[in-house]
Amino acid sequence: MTAISATDFQTVLSRCGIELQALAGKDISVHSPIDGTELASLAALPGAQVPQVIDHAVQAFKQWRLVPAPVRGELVRLWGEELRRAKADIGHVICSEVGKIAQEGLGEVQEDVDICEFALGLSRQLHGKTIVSERPGHRIMEQYHPLGPVAVITAFNFPSAVFAWNAAIALVCGNPVIFKPSDKAPLSGLATFKALERAIARFGDRAPAGLAQIVLGGAAVAEALVDSPRIALVSATGSSRMGRAVGPKVAARFGKRILELGGNNAMVVTPAADLDLAVRAIVFSAVGTAGQRCTSLRRLIVHRDVKQPLLDRLLPAYRSLRIGNPLQPDTLVGPLINEASFEALQHSLSQALKDGGHLLTGGQRQLEHQFPQGFYVAPAIVDMPAQTSIVRHETFAPLLYVLSYDELEQAIALNNDVPQGLSSCIFSNDLREVEVFLSAAGSDCGMANVNIGPSGAEIGGAFGGEKETGGDRESGSDAWKQYMRRTTNTINYSRELPLAQGIQFG
Ligand code: NAD
Repeated sequence: MTAISATDFQTVLSRCGIELQALAGKDISVHSPIDGTELASLAALPGAQVPQVIDHAVQAFKQWRLVPAPVRGELVRLWGEELRRAKADIGHVICSEVGKIAQEGLGEVQEDVDICEFALGLSRQLHGKTIVSERPGHRIMEQYHPLGPVAVITAFNFPSAVFAWNAAIALVCGNPVIFKPSDKAPLSGLATFKALERAIARFGDRAPAGLAQIVLGGAAVAEALVDSPRIALVSATGSSRMGRAVGPKVAARFGKRILELGGNNAMVVTPAADLDLAVRAIVFSAVGTAGQRCTSLRRLIVHRDVKQPLLDRLLPAYRSLRIGNPLQPDTLVGPLINEASFEALQHSLSQALKDGGHLLTGGQRQLEHQFPQGFYVAPAIVDMPAQTSIVRHETFAPLLYVLSYDELEQAIALNNDVPQGLSSCIFSNDLREVEVFLSAAGSDCGMANVNIGPSGAEIGGAFGGEKETGGDRESGSDAWKQYMRRTTNTINYSRELPLAQGIQFG
C-alpha cells in the first residue's frame, strides 16, 4: 500500500502552478522518501542552454538595477502574499518530497513569508555610511549598488526556504536570480518559484523578463552557473564536499560566493543547567527533520556530574518518539531522504562502536514491512569515550554522540575541535559559564545559543558558520551587503585640491 496518492499529489502540484507534463523527461526521477512512490520524472536543462539563461538574467539586470529599491520591495511583498496563500500546498509538497512532518513543512513556508517581510523592510534601508574626511571641504560616503545575476544552488533538506532566503534579499538588492534546486527535491523548489512567478505577473511590466529563472538538473547544471564570470554571486548550500568543489572555481574567476555547508553542532550541558529544558531542546534539535538539518544537534557534551540524570530523562523521551509517515498528524520523526542516507548512518554507527562507543538507544531500521522503499530509523544515541574521527564527521541522520567533560574549558575545546563551525549552544544558568561560552575564548561557531538548541534559527539573524561550513552568512542582519557592490565616494566641494596624508605634489 502506498502512503501517497499520486492523483491527490498531482492536484496539489497543479494548485501550486506546476504542470508536470510540461516538465516531463527522464533525467530526474523524484521519489517520496515516505514510501518510495515516484512523484515525478523531469527533464534537466541541457548544459548547453545555461548560457542562454544567463543572457536573460544579464539583460534583466540592466533594467532591474534602475527600479528604485522600495519599488523592488513591492515585488517581494507580493511574493510573500502568494506564499501565504499557498502555504498549506507548498508545505504538503515539502512533506511528500523530503519527508518532513506537517509542522515542519508549514514552518518552512512560514520562513519564506518571514524573509519576504524582512526584505520588504530592507528595501528602504539599503544605506551606506557618511564618513568624515580629513580634508577641508570634502565628504566621504558609501553607496550600495546592485551586483548582478545571482545563482542560488540549494540542498534537499530546506528545498523552499533556502531559495527564499537568497532570492528575496537578492531581488530587493536589485539582482536577477537563477535558481538551481536540489535534484532530490525539485518540486518543492518549483512550488516556491511558481509563487514568485505569480507575484511577478501581478507586479506587471516593471519586472523585466528573465528576472527570476529556474533551471532543473544536477551538479552539471550547477557547475555551468558556477563557472560563468557573468554570475556575480554564487550562493550554494549543501555539503562541504560540494563547497570544496564550488569555492575554488568561483575564487579562480574572482567571483563572489556565499557557501552554506555542513555542520557538526554541539550542546554543552553544565551542572548549572535546567535539565528538563535541555532534554526538550535535545529531542527537538537531534531528531527533528530526522536529524537532517544542517543545524541538527550531533554532539552532546555533558558534565560528568549531570550525565546520568540527563540520560535518565533523555532515553525515555527517545523511546517514546512516534516514528512514521510524516503526513500523519501525530508523527514526530519521518524518514531519511534515501537508502544511501540510511547506509551512511549504519556506517557511522558501526565505526563509532569500533571506536569504543556504547549504543544507548536506536539505530535500527523501522517500518520496513509497511514501507519497503522508505528508510525510517529509530534515532540513535551513542556514548563515546572520546571525540574520534567519526564524531568529527557530519552524519546527516539522527545520530547523537554523548561526550563527557570535567572542566568548562574542556567542553569548549571539544565543541571547537571539529572541522565544521555552524551552530552550538550551552545549557547553563550560571552567568559566568554562559559568558565564557559566548566570549572570544568560547564557541568558534557562526551561531552560539544559550538555553536553546542549535537548530531552528529565526530569519532576523545572519545565518551561517565558520571553517568547513564555508565562512559566509545569509538571511538577516547585514547579510544583504553580500548581494550588493559597495562604492566609496569622496566628494570635494572646495576650490582646492588637498591630497590625503598631507602629501605635497609639485
Ligand atoms: P549536496 O552537496 O549533495 O547538494 C547540494 C546542492 O549542490 C545540489 O543542488 C547539488 O546539485 C549541488 N552540487 C553538488 N555537487 C556540486 C558541484 N560539484 N558543483 C556545483 N553544485 C553541486 O547536499 P545535500 O545532500 O542536498 O544536502 C545536505 C548537506 O547540505 C548537508 O551537509 C547539510 O549540512 C548541508 N546544508 C547546509 C546548510 C547551511 O545553511 N549551512 C543548509 C542546508 C543544508
